[in-house]
Amino acid sequence: MELCKNKHIRYIESLDKRHEDYEYWLSEHLRLNGVYWGLTALCILDAKDTFNRTEIIKFVDSCWDDRYGGFAPFPRHDSHLLTTLSGIQILATYDAIDDVLKGDRMDRCVQFIVGNQLDDGSFQGDRFGEVDTRFVYTALSSLSILNKLTNEIVDPAIRFILRCYNFDGGFGLCPGAESHAAQVFTCLGALKIVNKLDMLSEEQIEETAMWLCERQLPEGGLNGRPSKLPDVCYSWWVLSSLAIIGKLDWINFEKLREFIISSQDVVNGGISDRPDNEVDVFHTIFGLAGLSLMGYDNLVPIDPVYCMPCSVTENFVKYI
Ligand SMILES: [Zn+2]
Repeated sequence: MELCKNKHIRYIESLDKRHEDYEYWLSEHLRLNGVYWGLTALCILDAKDTFNRTEIIKFVDSCWDDRYGGFAPFPRHDSHLLTTLSGIQILATYDAIDDVLKGDRMDRCVQFIVGNQLDDGSFQGDRFGEVDTRFVYTALSSLSILNKLTNEIVDPAIRFILRCYNFDGGFGLCPGAESHAAQVFTCLGALKIVNKLDMLSEEQIEETAMWLCERQLPEGGLNGRPSKLPDVCYSWWVLSSLAIIGKLDWINFEKLREFIISSQDVVNGGISDRPDNEVDVFHTIFGLAGLSLMGYDNLVPIDPVYCMPCSVTENFVKYI
């Protein structure tokens, strides 16, 4: 079976037109993330122009939270680190950061991100205080794209990340928490963004690679931690992690490709978490991103650290 590229493009296009759907409004809190997932999927499919650039930038602008700084998932909601990163990623993809973060907004955006860093170097997602290694990645990725990283922010953040490394080679969401593939990605990605992968020893990286390749199950798909079902989104969290440490070939590409391809809806487009389930934009982007990392189907190359097209990220200023 082949990848139904055109059907996936039509599927993502249709998401933008389903405003009257109950389901659509139910997922309102994910809206800005959803736009980022859809846009990035379209970029991988070389169909970026399917979305209307002007309208999308206007929508991102309308999600600016003027009370706290940063971007909210939807107009008049509260900003959060996750949606702030999505907003910045969309703007960077359209080369429109300066158009939206103008006046004092750039400083306020940086202040919002930095203001969520805690004394131990970790970050909370917003002022309600949930802490997770995801937010360290989110903060460092955002500040890196904006070229606003400093030692005062980076050094404690790295110390926190290293405390989340587990004896089995994985990383957890906080020190002592169980290893999880998504957390491995956020920790390796954060280290890579600030050029600090060498804080891990060769043996530690080897252990991490072993833990990651054990995520592949006999049916070809990858799971997020031992004894769980395979899920297409882990094609991204696991493969990007292996790509970051230069060990992508530790996975059987052929079998993983088959698993992702068999999870697509060949009638209406979109990709689901595993074969025969309902599709969604989240699994569509991460399935496509996984295929792109494996170099299949002439897809546009994706950056394993930022999950954005390489043609965009090659312009980012490197942190040294
Ligand atoms: Zn999933």
